[in-house]
Formats: sequence, C-alpha cells, structure tokens
Amino acid sequence: MTLNIGVIGTGMIGQDHIRRCHFALSGAQIVAVNDINPEQARKVVQDLGIEAEVYVSGHELIDAANVDAILVTSWGPSHEEFVLSAIRAGKPVFCEKPLAVTAQGCKNIVEAEMNHGKRLVQVGFMRPYDQGYRALKAVIDQGRIGEPLMLHCAHRNPTVADTYTTEMAIVDTLIHEINALAWLLDDQYVSAQVIYPRKSSQALAHLKDPQIVLLETAKGVRIDVEVFVNCQYGYDIQCEVVGEKGIARLPEPSSVQTRSGARLSTDILMDWKERFIEAYDVELQAFINSVAGGSVQGPSAWDGYTAAVTADACIAAQRSGLIEPIKLPQRPAFYG
Ligand code: NAP
Repeated sequence: MTLNIGVIGTGMIGQDHIRRCHFALSGAQIVAVNDINPEQARKVVQDLGIEAEVYVSGHELIDAANVDAILVTSWGPSHEEFVLSAIRAGKPVFCEKPLAVTAQGCKNIVEAEMNHGKRLVQVGFMRPYDQGYRALKAVIDQGRIGEPLMLHCAHRNPTVADTYTTEMAIVDTLIHEINALAWLLDDQYVSAQVIYPRKSSQALAHLKDPQIVLLETAKGVRIDVEVFVNCQYGYDIQCEVVGEKGIARLPEPSSVQTRSGARLSTDILMDWKERFIEAYDVELQAFINSVAGGSVQGPSAWDGYTAAVTADACIAAQRSGLIEPIKLPQRPAFYG
C-alpha cells in the first residue's frame, strides 16, 4: 500500500523531504502540498513534476480525504497548530524540529496525543538515525566501555547568517545534541550552565561565539558541548564518550584519504546537509514504515517537549551565568 502524504511548508527542508519521499524512498507519494505562499507551493510541484494538489490552507490539507499522513516543514512558530490539527484528524504527522517554539506548546501536543490514546507524532530529530550515532550507542549499550561518565562534544559550523543570534546557538544548533545525547545515554538532564570563552573575531558583534554548554544528567554524567558556529574550517560534529573502562568516539564521516604534496589528508565537510543526508532518508523511511505498520515510533512528542524544557534552561543559563536546574516530569508510560 502506498502512503499518501501531504506536506505543509515547501521551503528548503520541505522540498528535500518531498523529493526523498516521492522519488527516493519506498511506500509513499506526495499527494498534497501547502505553503503560506501558494505560488511557492505551485512552483515546487511544477519544478518537481509531481501530481500533488496545492492547498491554500494547511488545515484543509490535513482534513483532505486522500491525505493519510502529514509532514510539517513550515516555519517553527506554525508547527504547534498544524500538529494539533493532525492529531484532531487522527492522522500521523512527522514534524520537523522544533515541535513547538515553547515548552507549553509542546506540552499541549503531548496532552492532545495522550488524549487521542495512540502515538501519532514523530519529531524530526534525525541523529538517532545516523549510522555513526547508532554504532556509538551500540558500543555503549553493549557495555564495552563500562558506564559512561563524561561526554566531550562539539557542534561546529563554518559560518552562520547575519540573522543568527546567541539564543539560536541553543534552539537551532545545540537542540540536536540535547535530543541525541539523552537518547545516546538513555538518561535525562538535571542542570545546565553556559560559559563563554574568548570571543572569535570572525563572529559578528551581536553574537557570542563560541559557547560551552555544560549539562548534567540524572545519572551524574557530565557533558560539555562546544558550540562554535564561525569556526571557518568546516561542519564538524564530535562526540567522545568517556566510560569506566574505555572511550568511544563518534566515527568521522567517510572520506577518501589522500597522500599528495607531502601531505596525508582527508576532507572535512562544509555543509550540514551532507553530514546527515543518509540519516534524513532513514528517518523518513522509518516514519513511512511505522505508519504502514500501524504505530508511529522514533523521537516522540515527549522528546520534543523535554528538548524544549532543556533548551529553556540553557537560555536561562546563557543569561544568568549560573547553573540552572532542569525540572522534567516523569516520562509517561504512554511514551515507553
Ligand atoms: P524555510 O526554507 O524558511 O521554509 C519554510 C517554509 O514554510 C517557507 O516556504 C515558508 O514560507 C513556509 N511557511 C511559513 N509559515 C507557514 C505557514 N503558517 N503555513 C504554511 N507554510 C508556511 O525553512 P527550512 O529551513 O525549510 O526550515 C523549516 C523547518 O524545518 C524549521 O522548523 C527548521 O528548524 C526545520 N529544519 C530542521 C532541520 C533538521 O536538521 N532537522 C534542518 C533544517 C530545517 P515563507 O518563506 O513565505 O515564510
């Protein structure tokens, strides 16, 4: 059976997801699209040569009889209303991060989904679908390095747009570590602190860059994440787990090693999209398969909510310079 998908938001990632669902993955096709700018949606349909109906309202797309599942890839502040609308319609929905722009908005979705009585929401956190992170988690789960004690991580971008702010280092950048590291450790955060090293001369005046975020988990693991978004040299994701009996590192993306001109070298990626391109495919294929199998899995609305609460604490820590507590309620049995 082919899953008929409707997509809300035909910008950069929306177009990528339309392409992968319709042309690269199996078991799905795009039958409906919507964008706040209908001309943009029409152009995408035309350029990609797909037969999808263009809706002027995202809510009408959700309610359309031939739409089985929804992808929400619109602007972050619009996610909550579309995910709630999909839950009301009883339709599975894949929502790009953030699930909602406030913790309360995420909580509204959690409550609506629990009232519905069955999981419908998958949040677009793709790192748990990355081969390297999965291999790292397998090493930890098999006990090969003993219990994890410390994590040293880095999230580096070559440059960012002029509109990127100090807070975006948390809500747009660190948010992926917030989700992935809790999943990696099967643990949750209890406190956050942010410290600022010497500022890079490559960063614009309004932006504090780099930043070091210090997280503590319920099991007592200490995590440092360097967020450095003007590092110039590449897009570089690092994660080293120090355990009781050994150390495990996230593998580097595969790259041809060259010996030339008296140098031994491998390339470093510059574009974040290339780093996780396979993970996006795996994540959306998992969504399609889980909907076909009758139960949505993967990063949940609860994960979206806990990421938002943690991000709020990190922003409070950016402002206060203090160690800020992270108070998370017990994970409901509904979310496993
Ligand atoms: P984008 O290029 O700006 O695309 C968003 C699209 O949604 C735009 O065409 C926008 O129209 C449209 N839109 C805005 N409000 C809407 C509404 N109320 N109803 C329907 N369409 C609406 O942004 P993007 O980079 O694709 O990002 C989209 C989302 O994906 C963001 O939440 C972002 O954080 C997330 N994302 C996740 C990842 C990841 O690694 N998981 C990567 C990239 C992006 P206008 O341009 O006219 O406003």
